[in-house]
Amino acid sequence: MPLVEEVATRRFERIGMHSHIKGLGLDENGKARFMADGMVGQVKAREAAGIAVELIKRGKLAGKGILLVGPTGSGKTAIAMGIARELGEDVPFVQIAGSEIYSTEVKKTEFLKEALRKAIGVRISEERKVYEGEVRKIEINRTRHPFNPYVEVPESVVITLRTKDDEKTVRAGREIAQQLLEMGIEEGDVIGIDAETGRISKIGTTKEEEGLFFKRRVELPSGPVLKIKEFTYTVTLHDLDVANARGNIFGLLFSMGREIDDEIRARVDETVKQWIEEGKASLVPGVLFIDEVHMLDIEAFSFLARAMEGDLAPILILATNRGRTKIRGTDIEAPHGIPIDMLDRLLIINTEPYRKEEIREIVKIRAREEKIEVDEEAVEYLAELGEKTSLRYAVQLLAPASVLAKGGKVEKEHVEKAKEYFADLNRSMEFVEKLEGMLS
Ligand code: ATP
Repeated sequence: MPLVEEVATRRFERIGMHSHIKGLGLDENGKARFMADGMVGQVKAREAAGIAVELIKRGKLAGKGILLVGPTGSGKTAIAMGIARELGEDVPFVQIAGSEIYSTEVKKTEFLKEALRKAIGVRISEERKVYEGEVRKIEINRTRHPFNPYVEVPESVVITLRTKDDEKTVRAGREIAQQLLEMGIEEGDVIGIDAETGRISKIGTTKEEEGLFFKRRVELPSGPVLKIKEFTYTVTLHDLDVANARGNIFGLLFSMGREIDDEIRARVDETVKQWIEEGKASLVPGVLFIDEVHMLDIEAFSFLARAMEGDLAPILILATNRGRTKIRGTDIEAPHGIPIDMLDRLLIINTEPYRKEEIREIVKIRAREEKIEVDEEAVEYLAELGEKTSLRYAVQLLAPASVLAKGGKVEKEHVEKAKEYFADLNRSMEFVEKLEGMLS
């Protein structure tokens, strides 16, 4: 069983690459704006995706899915992410690659089951007591580390919290002190402290905070510092499975628990059903995106087909860059290596390779997202490189170029140097082939 944390970090990294995507960037008539919601170009595919979103919202895509077909790096993942964002901010988006089902120690169907459950959200509403207000003063008391006298660790904290018309001092132990430090909470921030678990959330700050395109600050809350608040948050069925396997909610944080079996899943489903009946929760079907879908075998496809028919199914978005190829595990050739009964359920959307203007704009968006300043000439050079190699390569060069520019403005020479250090796929293949040539 892989560590869930490990899987979660990998997932986070991959999704991080698409963090600028906030939707499909369509106008009210479903037409794509050339650049909107972090999306650029790929107009036809985005408009088609918009129609798919409408179908999903009207419940007309139940039991069916979407297949994105196009060359590597033509924005298939970006579009799948855009679809999830259009469906709602807390709609889960889970990305796996077809090949992953073979690379873990877990049984194939078990891996898929887990992925499906990660893609179903449960929106829970709860009333909780929280201390909420602006941090006026923080005093963290420290003590010597029990095993290392040279290191000081936080021992407790005294926080003065203020609302518009109230002020209160909250004393808390080591864990909250540590959490405050880790979150970088400082005076002027407005925070909430859960009275029961001590969990802290930052609500905002009363100081001006520079966003990417705007400045923001929050108003001070009014009323007494301790209040009963209604919270709504979304967890996934998989989160609940993990918590249940551990026997408590902290299983969410420390996931090395018992393995999750079907008995636990059934128990979670029962509980969720009960919450829904009591009006405490609702289901949020998310998106399960399976890249390189031609890598799945016949067994995995029939498992997925069955899962799509269940009443607890996420929206399935598959992607491939293959034409006609064998369905894995058989000698049968089929379009995209996908069995016909699965193909019958899929709406197909094509994505085309990017043009230079599109690459240029995407590079600029990513630079802004990664807070890297890039001069015009360097952007142009990256756009050319992207056109010759791949969009991904151009985007990936931003970070090393910024290191070479010592965090300052990236110029063409920094990109050139970064390109020397890091190869694109073609160059790296040529390198190996040349070596092999020399050795044979
Ligand atoms: P595929 O899934 O087809 O391989 P991808 O979506 O993973 O493609 P990459 O080549 O990895 O595309 O994309 C590099 C970067 O460009 C990513 O940050 C991605 O989000 C972004 N990107 C790709 N297409 C678009 C688009 N149409 N608009 C905005 N950003 C995009």
